[in-house]
Amino acid sequence: MEHVKDNIFAELISPGCNIGIIPTRKGTVIVDTPLLDWQAKAISSELSAGSHDPVRFIVISHPHGDHILGTDLFGEDVLIIGNRKAHEKMDKHSPAWVLDWVETWNWEDQKEVEEMATAHITLPQVIFKDELALNLGGVEMWILPLPGHLAECVGVFVPEAGALITGDALFCGHHPYMGEANFMVWFESFKKMRELKADLIVPGHGPVCGEEAIDKQQEYMEKMIEIRSKWNPEEGEEAIPGGSLNELIAFYPLYGRPESVMKARVVESIRVAGEPKF
Ligand SMILES: [Zn+2]
Repeated sequence: MEHVKDNIFAELISPGCNIGIIPTRKGTVIVDTPLLDWQAKAISSELSAGSHDPVRFIVISHPHGDHILGTDLFGEDVLIIGNRKAHEKMDKHSPAWVLDWVETWNWEDQKEVEEMATAHITLPQVIFKDELALNLGGVEMWILPLPGHLAECVGVFVPEAGALITGDALFCGHHPYMGEANFMVWFESFKKMRELKADLIVPGHGPVCGEEAIDKQQEYMEKMIEIRSKWNPEEGEEAIPGGSLNELIAFYPLYGRPESVMKARVVESIRVAGEPKF
């Protein structure tokens, strides 16, 4: 568990997602979930070692598998909080969906694959339409819509600490997944994020960062829009000038993944730049 600032912590799980952790005297709030039981136990034992309350609330940033598979890992006394759109989508996440989702990962440990494949997703019990404010033991938190990566995305801002936990509304140091995105809506969310003037940001993936990560992702996305305006996808990816593809691939590290995999993701994102998915 990394100490971010004041009473804000984060568990940066990779593969998996970042988890924002906000201990309060009324219980600890986490934003998104780990994937595996041992990861949840590690968070719980670190909280107890720091004399913090156990996890009592889980805020769902958006309903992608790497953020929600562990809704059941912190016991039955946990309250799950999510917006109406996320609730609707999660309600359709059948066991077959979980299995499919797990299979898309090249996870090496078969035991862990089996554990994830049998994950039971608990639906949010506190469901809100647009925004929700919490005040738990004197700690105020604003749950705000930050759509773009998906229509359902929300972030959590803790004004007293000046800390923002974004879920996948921001990726830091990683090629963002944009297969279901709306670029223009996402830019509006970037604007909203900047207006919060957060001192520190816990992104959905990658290290804790500042506003520069927003600028970098926006530049990356603007480049994609520019390429898309000159490229007809019907001509195939060979029609994208190689130089501009390489420039985009070089924006973020590959972390040992084959360049071909990232190239395919970048091409898909360029396509979506001209075809909003919601
Ligand atoms: Zn996501």
